[in-house]
Amino acid sequence: MVQQKDVTVFYDERVLAHAPDTNVDFLPGRLDKRIRTILSDLDVQWKYPEHPGRITAIMELLAREPIPGVRIEPGKAATKDELSRVHTRSFLDDIFSLRNESAWLDVDTTAVSPGSVQAAEVAAGTAIAAVEAVVEGRTGSAFAVVRPPGHHADPARARGFCLFNNVAVAAAHAHAALGCKRVLIVDWDAHHGNGTQDIFWADPDVMFFDMHRAAPFYPGTGSLTDVGAGRGEGTTVNVPMPGGAGDVAYLKAMRDILVPAADFFKPDLVLVSAGFDAHWFDLALNVSYEGFAAMTGVVQQIADKHCNGRLAMILEGGYNTESLSYGVHAVLKALAGGVVVEPKDCGVEEVEAATEFHKGAFQPDNTN
Ligand SMILES: [Zn+2]
Repeated sequence: MVQQKDVTVFYDERVLAHAPDTNVDFLPGRLDKRIRTILSDLDVQWKYPEHPGRITAIMELLAREPIPGVRIEPGKAATKDELSRVHTRSFLDDIFSLRNESAWLDVDTTAVSPGSVQAAEVAAGTAIAAVEAVVEGRTGSAFAVVRPPGHHADPARARGFCLFNNVAVAAAHAHAALGCKRVLIVDWDAHHGNGTQDIFWADPDVMFFDMHRAAPFYPGTGSLTDVGAGRGEGTTVNVPMPGGAGDVAYLKAMRDILVPAADFFKPDLVLVSAGFDAHWFDLALNVSYEGFAAMTGVVQQIADKHCNGRLAMILEGGYNTESLSYGVHAVLKALAGGVVVEPKDCGVEEVEAATEFHKGAFQPDNTN
């Protein structure tokens, strides 16, 4: 019998106030012109894909289909000192100067609306709240349902929908303030977590394991040979995947590379940059809900083996609201002790059954 475990979802509705509007004036003037030209050439009207509806879809599904063992707690805002563990002071000053403004920051489609700076502070702070609850033993595991996402933000730049690097802020907090000596970050978002990699590139105390669709897919980083440098050489592990890779490939990467890496590293906290854009609805890769659940099982086993089950997940991408909400739901069910089935290559089971069904049809007729 599978035992029910308690899981805490950390959610703060202030993250909904980040709502970049493509119709307001862009800044600065030259960039504005360039982006307007790109957008006017598109066949369909471009909307900002990283929108508040992503989060409401997750929370509404959880309300509609509650999971025994899963409770919800509020988040909090990160302080400037907490953010400055991974971001430069000048970058933070720049971002804070945009409070209550609308602006484009980056050609990689990162923009702010009047509520964005606070939303970003709350996203990073809610990731911290999730980690504190896990490290202090107040919950079996935690999931921070936050946005804007974080893993593309590097020490000095907002990129790819990300303002502050939430998972990095949480890992740095665990290390600096909660007594965690070695933090493992598993990034299974479809895109490479370039920002997280940069932040911990030379840090031997944070292992960064990233499975992602290989370059030239955005952001184009994360090659196999990127392994960190200096004292951090070996604590960056990249597994680039071809487009269309699915459950079997993801689970193989985790069992054959992540599990031995974790056995070597011996983390005292496991964090997951949990993106859901590897689901086939987002058209880049081919992971299923069962796949996300099985991947959750692997990271849970790593956490159980090395650090008394301390596991916190932080939401990253996922832009189809159906696969995003059902993906998170599948992960929460697995964290709460639900039965995890081993996914097979899609369709193989059905073809085996069909083979059995048709088996006798094409045999020579021996009845006469
Ligand atoms: Zn992504």
